[in-house]
Amino acid sequence: MPDIIQLLPDHVANQIAAGEVVQRPASVVKELLENAIDAEATNIKLIIKEAGKILIQVIDNGKGMSNTDARLSFERHATSKIKKAEDLFNLHTKGFRGEALASIAAIAHVDLKSKQEKSELGTHIKIEGSTLIFQENISTSKGTSVSVKNLFYNIPARRNFLKSNSIETRHIINEFQRIVLAHPAISFSFYHNQSEVYNLSAGNLRQRIVAVFGKKTNEKLVPIHEITDILEIKGFVAKPEFAKKKRGEQFFFVNNRFIKNAYLNHAVTSAFESLLSNGYFPTYFLYLTVPTKSIDINIHPTKTEIKFEDEKTLYAILRATIKHSLGQYNVAPVLDFRRDASMDTPYEFKNKKSETPKVAVNPDFNPFKSDKQKAIHFPYKQEKMPEWESLYTGINTKNIEVEAEIIENSLFSDAISNSKTYQIHKKYIISSIKSGVVYIHQNLAHQRILYEEFLENITVKEAMSQQLLFPLEISFNKEDIKLIKEIKDDLKSVGFLFDKILTNSIVVNGIPVTITESQITIIIEQLLEDIKNDIPDASFSQLDIMAKSLAKSLAIKTGTKLDLKEQEEIVNKLFVCKQPNLSPFGKTTFITINIDEIDKKFNT
Ligand code: ADP
Ligand code: MG
Repeated sequence: MPDIIQLLPDHVANQIAAGEVVQRPASVVKELLENAIDAEATNIKLIIKEAGKILIQVIDNGKGMSNTDARLSFERHATSKIKKAEDLFNLHTKGFRGEALASIAAIAHVDLKSKQEKSELGTHIKIEGSTLIFQENISTSKGTSVSVKNLFYNIPARRNFLKSNSIETRHIINEFQRIVLAHPAISFSFYHNQSEVYNLSAGNLRQRIVAVFGKKTNEKLVPIHEITDILEIKGFVAKPEFAKKKRGEQFFFVNNRFIKNAYLNHAVTSAFESLLSNGYFPTYFLYLTVPTKSIDINIHPTKTEIKFEDEKTLYAILRATIKHSLGQYNVAPVLDFRRDASMDTPYEFKNKKSETPKVAVNPDFNPFKSDKQKAIHFPYKQEKMPEWESLYTGINTKNIEVEAEIIENSLFSDAISNSKTYQIHKKYIISSIKSGVVYIHQNLAHQRILYEEFLENITVKEAMSQQLLFPLEISFNKEDIKLIKEIKDDLKSVGFLFDKILTNSIVVNGIPVTITESQITIIIEQLLEDIKNDIPDASFSQLDIMAKSLAKSLAIKTGTKLDLKEQEEIVNKLFVCKQPNLSPFGKTTFITINIDEIDKKFNT
């Protein structure tokens, strides 16, 4: 048998590699702009025609290339940026693979002119589909100009696959923005079909953001700055009132490289949580500087993902920093209950012996108190009161007596001014607050509490798990087993432990402390259902769905009678939630009725 393995000719290898590096005109824009930045240019001009399908040209005033380097730059794995494998862990340049120019030249007509500062003459190279057409000396100014024409001319399938001009232009603008935002000290200009799209002079970060996104942006920006042992965070977030309906202006840079990271994005979003309405996304421009050794960027050339050594800590720091800045710039609201200084809380009463109120009617009047619990200044005979209240609430007195419970709650004097809590209709917890009355929906409120607890377990703390005495085998179909395998690690992070995952069943030997053994099957089934219905686009949102699903399954249901302690727990925990007013699914968890509204009903 003859040998059959052959080495691919360079131009074929280049074309294959090009498929990875160059997916669309925007990829070329990114590579050329990054090369110009690596060449230490201070002025970079981008010119495109027909969304880059006809021409992409980048002109820089950087350090240029010698004749030989210019020719070598089109060879695969030819780079001046790293020399040995260790350099990969200490990268300070955008490029390092030495693949971009070789790839681009394999699938387009490339024309390069370059001159180093000290050389008298520059060099001019023309390459088409990896074939050198000529190289000659020319007189040109310092720096490099690369023009890429007729992209994918020799790969018709690829060329036909390109989207409309407006979509390809959008991609180019996105790449351009990511790069210019990372380098405010460099001036950039951008022309499309001869008209100017951007003209950005060198400046600071705020000036750059404003130049890219418009003058009005300036007033929206809240500065962020934090230095810790493991990272520095700089940049801006936009005030919550300027949040967008679309996930548009969200920029993370790590060591000046644009990245996408769903987990860190969640950290930012959660810092905003209670400040944004449902469906709105915060705008941010955040610049993280971390030691080059602690990240792994040796990844796919066109991907923007990055791996961090200690993601959980980054999450916590980022979230705290943003919360802090939002608070500092006074954009975070106080708790929903408007404080009314003129109304005293019972807690304060205790400390103000000399100022016993002289009013005849007690606003904290509680019809259900027993004699022992009754406030000293309470002027009425409480026996009459249940009937009295039932007159206007329409609630059966007998029920109230059974269900109503009183909680002395000093912890909560901040939000709940009157420390008594009642449950009505096995559905709502009622309490008096400074401004009036609060009605808490027990099920929705508990969903919020559990959701935040799960999220915290997943993101910050280790999940609490209880070992089962006897491992439990649960049957699932193959599809579900596949899904369980995929989310196994996430399930682990909320407290589910698996002994085995077989073809048609799983064996569970640990469960979250919050659930009981009899609930396991139904909870996992519900979870799988929720994940299937809400296809997550990033690892974090899968965890988010999981937290929501578990919260929904485990929350105390309407119709459950709550004892004093349970009511107290819900009230206490709800109001330390980050976003107490909404359930994880965006439903209102409590309402307040202002004393004015009550007064109005009485025409007083
Ligand atoms: P990489 O950027 O990964 O090194 P490229 O294929 O993008 O690989 O570029 C190859 C080499 O060509 C670079 O390492 C650099 O030395 C040189 N080069 C490319 N573009 C420029 C430029 N605009 N100015 C100066 N040198 C450049
Ligand atoms: Mg490069």
